Amino acid sequence: MKASAFAYARATSVANALELLAVHGEKAKVLSGGQSLLPAMNLRLIAPELIIDIGELAELRGIVVKDGFLTIGALTRHVDLLKSPEIAAHAPLLADAVAHVAHPAIRNRGTIGGNLAHADPASELPACMLALGATIIVHGSHGRRRIAASEFFAGIYETALAPQELLVAVELPVPLKHSVHFFHEFTRRHGDYAIVGLAAQAIVKDGGFADLQLGFFAVGDRPLLAGAASKLVDVAITSQVLSETFTALDHELDPLEDHQATPAMRRHLAKVALARCVSALLNRPDLCAGASA
Ligand SMILES: Cc1cc2nc3c(=O)[nH]c(=O)nc-3n(C[C@H](O)[C@H](O)[C@H](O)COP(=O)(O)OP(=O)(O)OC[C@H]3O[C@@H](n4cnc5c(N)ncnc54)[C@H](O)[C@@H]3O)c2cc1C
Repeated sequence: MKASAFAYARATSVANALELLAVHGEKAKVLSGGQSLLPAMNLRLIAPELIIDIGELAELRGIVVKDGFLTIGALTRHVDLLKSPEIAAHAPLLADAVAHVAHPAIRNRGTIGGNLAHADPASELPACMLALGATIIVHGSHGRRRIAASEFFAGIYETALAPQELLVAVELPVPLKHSVHFFHEFTRRHGDYAIVGLAAQAIVKDGGFADLQLGFFAVGDRPLLAGAASKLVDVAITSQVLSETFTALDHELDPLEDHQATPAMRRHLAKVALARCVSALLNRPDLCAGASA
């Protein structure tokens, strides 16, 4: 199938893109890498009247480390994240995760801004944003807004972005000393959307967790920052504690049924991912017993 007829405008600056969005609002769609927008248009799931191409706006591209924060421009492509020494040094969780996003051809064009604005609940990067405590920076006609990642994702393909706003950057705090991370996803083939996944960031001290942020994906209509993580912080981790954490996690999950898995299977895989995470981060193979997939 081919997309419905649409008009096309190439934005010459962020200000110009915002002017176009202010006039055309809900009838327009922003085009970044096109890796999600164009398939949706070709399948006629959406039929915007105007495409606003921001792909040439160099001001939205790049990675900067300053004053304890890592700022990533919205048009930074997946491949740039993979190759960036700044990401490898300060956000290795993101580097691990992005290697699982689609395939090289898609990573060469897809952008972090487009990925987060698209808000697919099975997507890796939104869950990383939760685990890393990111702030999403958006720009509208009234200036900039800063939105905590935990407030940004509102449902399947839904975010806190208004139709007249542009996602311009993502800001991540540089992880503290003793920070460690874990990433794992269950997929049928490498590069597929996840059946269930977990992106975690933690601080490990004296064989336990001083902090633990668990960002699950493909376990509901949006990524989940699991409150169950608090059960594992500042306590000696035993199989009993882990089992209580599984129960708490189970209450938070609201998995969907699709062609890949039933909700029951997703609940099971989320627990397996959690057990593997705790076991790997604490170097405790004993904690993986009883959780296999
Ligand atoms: C075969 C295939 C497999 C894929 N597998 C995965 C996968 O495993 N994991 C995964 O996470 N993704 C996957 N993707 C999606 C891919 O990662 C896309 O790159 C990404 O979701 C969107 O980025 P984009 O820059 O291409 O955005 P676009 O397609 O250009 O835009 C996506 C949406 O975001 C909006 N948008 C874009 N940029 C902005 C902005 N700056 N401000 C406001 N709104 C904006 C657009 O209007 C549109 O609604 C896959 C895609 C394909 C085609």
